[in-house]
Amino acid sequence: MSAHAGLRTSVLRNRCPHCGHATDRVTAVDAGRGPEGGDLSICVACGEWAVFADDLTLRKPTGDEFIAIGKDALCRRARAAWVKAFEPPPTPPASPGPGT
Ligand SMILES: [Zn+2]
Repeated sequence: MSAHAGLRTSVLRNRCPHCGHATDRVTAVDAGRGPEGGDLSICVACGEWAVFADDLTLRKPTGDEFIAIGKDALCRRARAAWVKAFEPPPTPPASPGPGT
């Protein structure tokens, strides 16, 4: 476990339930502690939300949880940060070829 600029990182091997990406650590953005059952996680590989089960494995959120995530300001900011950091920019439209 380490702390940097108010963030707390813990070693925890897991697998994203959406894309299967293997993770080896988690960083808490607001709690100042390691994850607990019911906490949310955003996958660094695919940007999807997951929920920590009581045994700290990850599962996909239920429909009601997805709605709550969408309404939560911190979740929206975290997702926006992921998009800014990891999502590739949109591909510009193809320019017309010669003679068009
Ligand atoms: Zn993922």
